[in-house]
Amino acid sequence: TDGRGIFRVYSPEMGNKIRRYHYLLEELRLAIASQNFQLSFQPIVHVEDCSIDYFEALTRWHHPIEGLIPPSEFIPIAEESNLILELGDWILLESCRQMSAWHNAGMKKVKISVNVSGIQLKHRPIYDWVLNALEKSGLPASSLMIEITESTLITASDEIIAQLERCRSAGVTIAIDDFGTGFSSLSTLADLPIDVIKIDKLFISQAKDNPKYYKILNSISELGAQLGLKIVAEGVEQLDQFELVKDMGICCVQGYLVSRPETSRNVGDKVLKGNVN
Ligand code: C2E
Ligand code: CA
Ligand code: CA
Ligand code: CA
Repeated sequence: TDGRGIFRVYSPEMGNKIRRYHYLLEELRLAIASQNFQLSFQPIVHVEDCSIDYFEALTRWHHPIEGLIPPSEFIPIAEESNLILELGDWILLESCRQMSAWHNAGMKKVKISVNVSGIQLKHRPIYDWVLNALEKSGLPASSLMIEITESTLITASDEIIAQLERCRSAGVTIAIDDFGTGFSSLSTLADLPIDVIKIDKLFISQAKDNPKYYKILNSISELGAQLGLKIVAEGVEQLDQFELVKDMGICCVQGYLVSRPETSRNVGDKVLKGNVN
């Protein structure tokens, strides 16, 4: 209230938020038109030998005045405005092209993983969309993975699930992202068209100090293993977290402990030196 018991619907702070939203929306439009984005790449490694299983493509927006604007700020705006469709087309094709180039430079076994949002699943015929990018880039389907959040997957229509099944049949890997935050029951996992579970970083950061999180983490990894799914622990920052997930039998980790997301140039240098294969 404003101190006189009257609700003020429009506070100056809200005004600032709305102004920033509209400002970023317009800037986003311009940036998309000029393809002013970069991809960064974060490795997901096997716990036993730290070899790279795949790279996750993460989109970066360096704004000329604002500097680096985090995806947590611009992706939601892109989704609400449907600009994610055009941006997402660029992200998928660019990710596939980059991985195809690295394959040709010698990095044959590593996959690329691309985040796909619910808006894209709704408005793009996902099977044709994915196959078109593979064809244009020359990347084999077996080298592409798509990450879809748990909350998006559990609310997806039968038609979308069927499209995802077709992608899988074509050889594309599908991961359920941020798992554990979407409140699906573990039993629904068996019915989803997925190959990989990415356990949300919340569980990794809490597992050591909070027995409840430890138990949830443990049952996700046990059930995942029984269903024949590959489990990835996200957000591993410390050695004791690495040891903990390793002891649980989780096969793969992603996190600052192993590597931050890197520019394509940095990754490319390592590929050429033969440090990645
Ligand atoms: P996400 O898909 O869960 O991606 C993982 C995020 O965790 C990335 O943040 C990554 O930099 C961060 N991360 C990796 N290791 C660690 C760690 O050890 N500790 C901590 N605290 N964080 C770690 P980023 O790049 O800022 O992206 C945030 C979110 O924005 C992503 O979460 C994803 O939901 C969205 N996003 C990013 N790029 C794209 C994209 O190309 N398309 C779509 N649809 N969403 C994207
Ligand atoms: Ca992801
Ligand atoms: Ca995630
Ligand atoms: Ca996330």
